[in-house]
Amino acid sequence: MRMEQPTNFTPKNVPDPLNHHTTSHLVASDAANDLPRAVYIHVPFCAHRCGYCNFTLVAGRLDLVEPYLTAVERELTGLDEPRQPQPVDTLFFGGGTPTQLAGPQLSRLLEMVRHWHPPAVGYEFSVEANPADVTRELVALLARHGVTRVSLGAQSFQPAKLRMLERDHQPDDIRRAASLICESNLQLALDLIFGVPGETPDDWQADLDAALALEPDHISTYGLTFERGTTFWNRLSHGQLARADEDLERSLYLHAIERLTADGFEHYEVSNFARPGRRCRHNEAYWAGEQYSAAGPGATSYIAGVRQTNHRSTTTYLKRVLAGQSPVAEREQLAPEDRARELLVFGLRRMAGVERAWFATRSGFTIEALIGPALRRYVDLGMLKDTGNAVLLTREGLLLSDAIWPDFLVAKKKGSELFS
Ligand code: SF4
Repeated sequence: MRMEQPTNFTPKNVPDPLNHHTTSHLVASDAANDLPRAVYIHVPFCAHRCGYCNFTLVAGRLDLVEPYLTAVERELTGLDEPRQPQPVDTLFFGGGTPTQLAGPQLSRLLEMVRHWHPPAVGYEFSVEANPADVTRELVALLARHGVTRVSLGAQSFQPAKLRMLERDHQPDDIRRAASLICESNLQLALDLIFGVPGETPDDWQADLDAALALEPDHISTYGLTFERGTTFWNRLSHGQLARADEDLERSLYLHAIERLTADGFEHYEVSNFARPGRRCRHNEAYWAGEQYSAAGPGATSYIAGVRQTNHRSTTTYLKRVLAGQSPVAEREQLAPEDRARELLVFGLRRMAGVERAWFATRSGFTIEALIGPALRRYVDLGMLKDTGNAVLLTREGLLLSDAIWPDFLVAKKKGSELFS
């Protein structure tokens, strides 16, 4: 369960050098009357909280599922004004653990979301699942409701690594779940984590081999992070856990790229690999700066340049929605330049990079106007490649990309230009 929605991505201190905003800087697909084609539903329930996880969730509170379903239905129906059903191309149920819901509850959620967001022809519908929850009945239920893709939080096939991560499944649960998903002709996506304390290159090699043996359509690999507020963070602070060595982490990541691409996977985004034609279209909508709507605690929507995030506390979210109040905790109208910078950074996460002409049409800014000197510096450092038509990460840049983005997100003090 690792793909997070984009949230408050722009540093709050980004100055807004442009007070002459005009509608010419809203690209066609962002016009207010052009509705999002991607929808995210956050399902905040887990059996327990894993030590490394800081996602929006409640552990062991299945008593809140019924009020949650009522609240999501109210959000989808429209709290302020009644809505009409809005067709979409992609739906994504993330968490938390959507598969924590009992069959009838999950059916109700699937039905209501499909009613308010009927999938268009050729849609993609992803649901995150915990391997231990996957049964033949669950997979049949998902297939019956039109789910096309199950994203399995596998993380590892090593019992000791799973224990370290405080996961509640065993390697055999992943294999059993994967085979049920594939038998039902649903696409199989696997999440894997590397850089876990004590992990060796052999462990990681074994994880990649075990994942490939299941013939998934998609694999995401994430380096373990220590987030403030998690038990892992506390253990790290008290010297009870040690981060993986940086060089080791780099070599594990590079090994994943080599192993997965050698097996025919396309490395299409920093952390993501897909069989041809099997990319996650929902996440691609985020990286392409498309609009998306969302429901559930902590869920973020992005419509017509406005980003809104619901209360992260599930109980506050429920209290507010069930009382007829807005669940929105943060609302931010992004200035055109901030939107352009985010689009650039999201776009650069994709291996294809950012095509100059596409970027100018989409954002109303040239790449030069936004990051000219920084771009040249990173090209000189060998971290970015400039082909003339496009800018993309090099292998070295891929390893250090998180260090590059802050430079691109901070607006120039002066001299930024509008392209159109
Ligand atoms: S199962 Fe996933 S979402 Fe739930 S606590 Fe563990 S890592 Fe977090």
